[in-house]
Amino acid sequence: MQRYFVAPEQFRGVIITITGEDAHHAARVMRMKPDDQIIVCDGVSRSVRAVVLEASPQEIRAEAEEELLQDSEPAWSITIAQGLPKADKMELVIQKGTEIGASSFVPFESERVIVQYDGKKEAKRIERWSKIAKEAAEQAHRHRIPSIQPVQSWRQMLTLIGEFDLALFCYEREGAAAHGKGIANAVRQWKLEREKSSDEVVQNPRIVLLVGPEGGFSEREAVEAEAAGAILVGLGKRILRTETAGLVGLTCLLYESGAMEGA
Ligand code: SAM
Repeated sequence: MQRYFVAPEQFRGVIITITGEDAHHAARVMRMKPDDQIIVCDGVSRSVRAVVLEASPQEIRAEAEEELLQDSEPAWSITIAQGLPKADKMELVIQKGTEIGASSFVPFESERVIVQYDGKKEAKRIERWSKIAKEAAEQAHRHRIPSIQPVQSWRQMLTLIGEFDLALFCYEREGAAAHGKGIANAVRQWKLEREKSSDEVVQNPRIVLLVGPEGGFSEREAVEAEAAGAILVGLGKRILRTETAGLVGLTCLLYESGAMEGA
């Protein structure tokens, strides 16, 4: 069943209106007509099975018939903070990260980012990245579209670390070094400490994975991130490409959260 994301205000009680590209897609490509069934999500809290009342390339009107459980969203809200990579690697990170279950993406600049970041093009890039996230969320049958944050400076990124319940700084040196802490051990230790420290465990913790650009992180950035509260973690003894590392870390976290244990 075709799935569409609309803004919450496009839900008016049980009546839903779909406009823009999605209406055109539904009417022209999917040849939607009255009585067809679709799934509509507001990307925040509501997902419904709806029946089409009217269909035109300008607007689809549908009536919600059944509220759906948002059961394809992970319990842990995981953000991939990605050192700005070259070319269209960010698009790959967003598409695959959305399929796997990321909740948000934060691109950031750091010492060894190679791309010349041009603020003027930011709006256009964020718009393109948001479209990729929306399409990947529809394809993956998700109920939420991951958010794409504006590009952060390294200073801003350090401040952001404090806003998360857990910040993991993916550091290939940790992966290689004997004393290095692997992501699995770091997360299990955090889970244990969390269970011991407070009687009511935060059910939907917010976790951020920091991933360096192609040139990696500098020693100074590792020290600063650790001082800001991040834990340096390895993702195994192999050096992963920048566009691979966040996806591996995301999958490890979802595994540790129990998201892969089946229904
Ligand atoms: N220093 C790397 C090298 O020797 O090629 C360059 C950085 S790597 C291509 C890009 C980023 O992926 C790193 O900054 C790190 O965040 C992450 N990464 C890659 N492999 C990793 C590993 N085994 N453990 C932890 N992080 C890793």
